[in-house]
Formats: sequence, structure tokens, C-alpha cells
Amino acid sequence: MEKVADVVIIGGGVIGLSIAYHLGKKRAGKIVLLEKGQLGEGSTGRCVGGIRTQFSTEINILFSLESIKTFDHFKEEFGIDPEFRKIGYLFLATTDLDVKIFKQNIALQKKFGIPVEWLDPEEITKRCPYLKVDDVLGGTFCSLDGYVGPSEVLSGFARDAKRVGVKIYEGVEVKDILTDQERITGVRTNGGEISTPVVVNASGPYASLIGKMAKLDIPVKPLRRQVFVTAPFHLTDLTIPLTIDFQRGWYFRQEVDGFLISGPLDQEPSFNTNTDYGAMLEASKNAIYRIPALEKARIARGWAGLYEISPDHHAILGKVPGVEGFILANGFSGHGFQHSPAVGKVISELIVDGRASTIDISSLSLERFEKGDHILEPMTAFKE
Ligand SMILES: Cc1cc2nc3c(=O)[nH]c(=O)nc-3n(C[C@H](O)[C@H](O)[C@H](O)COP(=O)(O)OP(=O)(O)OC[C@H]3O[C@@H](n4cnc5c(N)ncnc54)[C@H](O)[C@@H]3O)c2cc1C
Repeated sequence: MEKVADVVIIGGGVIGLSIAYHLGKKRAGKIVLLEKGQLGEGSTGRCVGGIRTQFSTEINILFSLESIKTFDHFKEEFGIDPEFRKIGYLFLATTDLDVKIFKQNIALQKKFGIPVEWLDPEEITKRCPYLKVDDVLGGTFCSLDGYVGPSEVLSGFARDAKRVGVKIYEGVEVKDILTDQERITGVRTNGGEISTPVVVNASGPYASLIGKMAKLDIPVKPLRRQVFVTAPFHLTDLTIPLTIDFQRGWYFRQEVDGFLISGPLDQEPSFNTNTDYGAMLEASKNAIYRIPALEKARIARGWAGLYEISPDHHAILGKVPGVEGFILANGFSGHGFQHSPAVGKVISELIVDGRASTIDISSLSLERFEKGDHILEPMTAFKE
């Protein structure tokens, strides 16, 4: 392994690999990426690939629009087809407050030219006759939204990062971050030390543990989300949007010939990635409540992964005061996969040019929590 690098990236998930690829493309010197296990074995390998423009804050919309450009042309750029299925996202409102929030969201999204529509319950029934809508007051639908294959995207970034000269090491765990007078000087790993002036924390749900190594408090909590998949089941010949029962924090979409249905999101932080019977029951109850025909479907499998939740459900990006050379790419709060292309771009700009020019990331700094500049996010109930 290298003894010296210009940049060391901690974490071989989609965020670390996107940053690595963009740095390599910008010829940022000797770039080394360290992954303690295997590439993608963290949250990325457990995510369901959802991509949406329907966010309620400007900064998230900007990250989505920038990232979608990459997903739209992924095959041309990386030679791998991630099969972007633009089935649309349908958010269902069941309370007056939901309606108010959704209508505010539409106004914001339309400012960015996003073709989002408000649907009344009759229109929802017309488009999605399998949904029970007695308690639904309306919904928003956007045809730009959909999903891609997480492993295809990860493989594309990994392969092209190597092609542009990034050194990637699996099975190498960072044990400590070395500093001298508030400057990064290197990392200590189970495979030896590497001297470097720049370390990127791209460790997903482990962000706060890596932060501690640099004596920083990074407020990112790992929260388990379980998901389940049914055996093949025919519901309709219509295209089924990814549908979100907002108040229940529940969603479903087609997955090959069956359905992917979300289970609960834990309230307490942990690194537990087991699935359990109670969660499967809750997922099934929510599914049958909204789509009664699913009563006849059978759950075939399930898995769990960790969200990396920040206090205001927005990413924490950029430099930190007091530890020069330490760069954060953390706290994506359940939507890091879909924003990974833009994150790679802005973090590489920050490192190479000293400033992120594609998107102004100053509102996502770590200091915002100390200053009380939390970003208001009315949609916290929903996480992919
Ligand atoms: C069930 C589920 C569904 C999701 N669905 C979606 C979705 O539809 N759309 C979406 O946008 N997002 C979704 N997400 C969120 C998404 O998966 C994450 O935001 C994204 O994968 C974060 O990527 P990452 O690279 O930051 O983290 P990870 O993929 O977790 O990568 C971090 C890596 O760092 C490594 N690491 C940690 N500590 C060390 C160390 N000391 N030394 C070396 N390596 C280390 C870990 O092993 C890990 O591989 C979902 C998440 C879950 C759990």
C-alpha cells in the first residue's frame, strides 16, 4: 500500500467512490480509497436505488437535478446501464397538514421546472385503481422520479475511479487520523500508515466514529431501516409509481415480478442490520392497508441497512474549522445514493479548486448546528 497520498478517502460506498472518481478525473494527484470490508458492503449495498426531484428544500432539489444528469447519461459515461426506470414517485397526503406541505413543495419544485402534478383522489384512483384512497386527500406525482440499480452505479464509479488512477484497497480499516497543530498529516490503518494532507470522511453510518478520530463531533446517527420483497405477484398491467404513504412513513414499488415494501425505521441508533418478524408484520399491515389485493402476496425475503441521519436530515458537507484538510461527506439521511454523483463533483471541486462551484454547499457545513442554522425540512417523515 502507498505510504504517501495527496488525498485519502475513508469509505468504499457510493459516496467515497464518486468522490474518488471525480478527483481522479480532475487529476488531483495520488488518490487512495480505503474500505474496511468490501466495496458497497455498507448502506449502499442495502439501498433501494430511489431517485426523486420531489424534495422540499432548494438544496436537495439542486443535488437531485445535478445528479439526474449523470444517471440519465450513466451508460455513455461509465459503460454500464443502471436501468433508470422513470416510473414516477406518488406521495399520498392523508392530513390537512400534508396537503399544505405538499402544495408548498409543488410551488418550490415548479420554480426549478420540475413537472410535478397535484392529483385529487379521483385522479389517483383513475391512475392507480389498486390503491385504497378513502382517507387520501390528494397526492403529488412527478414523472422524472424513479430508481436505478445501486450495484451498477457503484460498479461504474469503482471501475472508472480505477481507470483514472485511484488506488482502491478493500479490507483496510482506518484506525486513527493523524494530526499536527490542527492539520491533517495522515491516517493509521491495520495495514500501516499513509501520510496525507487531506482526508475525506465518506464512512456513511460510521461518520461520527471517524469524526472522533479527528476529535470532532459529527452528529450523524445510524438508524436501521428494514425492507421486504414479495414473491412474484401480479397487481395490474399499468405502470406502478413508487408510492409513499406519507403519514405511515411507508412506501412500495415494483421489484422485478414482485413488490418491494418498506418496513419500519428504528428510532434508536445502532449498527444492527438484522431483520425481524415484527418489522415484516408492520410492513405487511401497511401494504394491505393501502393495497388490499396484496393480502394474497407472500413475503419472500428482506434485508436491513443503516441510514446516516443528521439533526436536520440534510447532508453535512465540506471543510471543518480547526482540522485543516479534513473534509466531510456525511449525514445524507437516507438519500445519499441518489445525490452521490453531485456530491462527488462538489467535493472534488472543493479539494482541487478550493471551492464547490457546481452547487453552493455553504449551507451544509458542520458549523450550522452550532450556529443554530438548521435547514428546515417539513418532509422528515419520509425516507427512501
Ligand atoms: C434500506 C435502505 C434503503 C435506502 N434507499 C435509498 C434510496 O432509495 N435512495 C437513496 O438515495 N438512498 C437510499 N438509502 C440511503 C443510501 O443507501 C445512503 O445514503 C448511501 O448509500 C450512503 O453512501 P455512503 O458511501 O456514504 O455510505 P456506505 O455505503 O455505508 O459506505 C461507507 C463505507 O465506509 C466504510 N467504513 C466505515 N468505517 C471505516 C473505516 N474505519 N475504515 C475504512 N472503511 C470504513 C464502511 O464499511 C462502508 O462500506 C437507503 C438506505 C437504506 C439502509
